[in-house]
Amino acid sequence: DAPAPDAASGTAPDATSASGTAPLIQLEGIHKAFGDLHVLKDCDLSVAPGEVTVLIGPSGSGKSTLLRCINQLEEPTAGRVRIAGVTQGYAEEPLADGRWQKLPSAEIARQRSRIGMVFQRFHLFPHMTALANIMEAPIQVLGRSKAEAKESALALLERVGLSDRADHYPSELSGGQQQRVAIARALAMEPELMLFDEPTSALDPELVAEVLAVLKELAEGGMTMIVVTHEMGFAREVADRVVFMDEGMIVEQGTAQELIETPRSDRLQDFLASVL
Ligand code: ADP
Ligand code: MG
Repeated sequence: DAPAPDAASGTAPDATSASGTAPLIQLEGIHKAFGDLHVLKDCDLSVAPGEVTVLIGPSGSGKSTLLRCINQLEEPTAGRVRIAGVTQGYAEEPLADGRWQKLPSAEIARQRSRIGMVFQRFHLFPHMTALANIMEAPIQVLGRSKAEAKESALALLERVGLSDRADHYPSELSGGQQQRVAIARALAMEPELMLFDEPTSALDPELVAEVLAVLKELAEGGMTMIVVTHEMGFAREVADRVVFMDEGMIVEQGTAQELIETPRSDRLQDFLASVL
C-alpha cells in the first residue's frame, strides 16, 4: 500500500559514470505530488563520490523538495533514491506480489543520519552553546562519549574558523557564525554526503563569503555535496556540475561555464538574467 518506487518505469542499469565510478547519489524517475500539485516530474540525477553539484532554478521549481526527497524528509510519489547503491526507505527487493516494503522507521532514521543537511535558517538549539550544539547528536544518536564528542566538536569548530566561539550561545553569534556552527553540527555526524538548501540566502551580504569559504573547503576535502544556491560565482569556482530546474523538471545540466555561457533553453536564459 505504500506508494512504491515505480518498478514499471524501469531503472537505469547499475550505471557507472564515464570515469568508471559508481554514483553515490542516484535519483531515478522521481515524482512528487502534494495533492493535485505535481511538484517533481521524472527527475533523474546521478552524483559521483566527491562531486559538487550546484542546483539552481526559480523559486517554486522544486529544488528544496528534491533535496528533501534525497534525505527522506519527503517520500517520493514514484521513483527511487539510491545512496551508494542502497534504495532509500524501502527493502532492496519487492515482495513476491510486486509491492515494495517500507523499511522500519529505525532503519530509515539510520539511513537519514548518513546524510547531512543544512538549511537556509540555522535551527541551532538556542539554549545550548555552539560546542554543545555540535556535541548533541553524536552523543544522542551515535552513542559517543562526552569526551569523544567534545574532542571532535572542537576540531570541527576549528575547521569552520570558530574555535574562539565554542562557549557562545546562538544569540551571541552572527548569522554567518551560526550557519558555520550548523555546518559543523551536520559534519559531526560524519555524513557520507551533504545537502545545502540556500545556506547563505538568509545572511546579510557581508556574511555570505565566510560561509561559502567553508563550503569550498569541504568541497576541496572531497565531500560529495548538492548545494542549492544562486551564488553563481561560487558555482563557477566550486561546482563540478550545475543543474537547472524549472517547474519540477531538470531542464539542463553541465559545467557552470557551459550553463552560464551557452544556456540552451529560454527558461535558463531568463533565470540567469535574473541572478547574474
Ligand atoms: P524551491 O525550493 O525551488 O523554491 P519547493 O521545492 O520549495 O521549491 O516547492 C516547489 C513547489 O511545491 C511549490 O509550489 C511549493 O509551494 C510546493 N510545496 C512544497 N512543499 C509543499 C508541501 N509540504 N505541501 C504542499 N505544497 C508544497
Ligand atoms: Mg527552496
